[in-house]
Amino acid sequence: MIVAIDGPAGVGKSTIAKLIADELGLYYINSGSFYRAVTFAHLEEGGDPSNQDEVLKTAKKLKLEIIDSKVCIDGVDVEDKLHSPEIDKFVSQVSVDPRLRDLINVILRENAKKMDIIAEGRDITTVVFPDAKYKFYFDASAEVRANRRISQHPDGQSYESVLEGIQKRDKNDREKPFGSLKIANDAKIIDTSYLTIKQVCEKVVSAIKTQEMR
Ligand code: C5P
Repeated sequence: MIVAIDGPAGVGKSTIAKLIADELGLYYINSGSFYRAVTFAHLEEGGDPSNQDEVLKTAKKLKLEIIDSKVCIDGVDVEDKLHSPEIDKFVSQVSVDPRLRDLINVILRENAKKMDIIAEGRDITTVVFPDAKYKFYFDASAEVRANRRISQHPDGQSYESVLEGIQKRDKNDREKPFGSLKIANDAKIIDTSYLTIKQVCEKVVSAIKTQEMR
């Protein structure tokens, strides 16, 4: 079973997908963590994130895997290192390279062969698992997402700079030549702007259960 969720940065995909994973007994996969892990490793090496060949070389050297739903590099859980403002700044640029995307998509699909998963990202419903039975697209305005980000992770950044960062990532994510953020024709769209986390979870679980009964 594959539950696939796409949507823009900061829309609540991770929080909600983790809760649904617990409720339905699915294995949670955050595809963005892989792009972040590659960006992290490359920056750690002092590499230039705009040099696609160099980034790809770094990625090929790494053993990237998911252990207990956490992304690991060479067996070490790096999840808590992946959300720095520096990685936020470079990750969407790094994720543009189709060669890197192919490499990551292979890992995602291998995991789906082994277990029932809930995976989230930008191209999960359209490219990675176009045949997934359950597809969702979460949406919310950039302003709502910026406000949420500030209230949940107050790290001193101003509202304006958080909003600008989100708008830049949205633009990059939507304009990517490969794996861009799109709404799959058969995805259920959920506008999370004025819903609580619990309400979104209920909508998703109820849609899955209704479809399951058909
Ligand atoms: O979901 P998250 O914000 O952690 O993803 C980090 C970045 O990785 C996104 O801004 C996006 O550019 C990229 N990404 C992607 N395809 C995915 C998931 C994430 O290009 N399936």
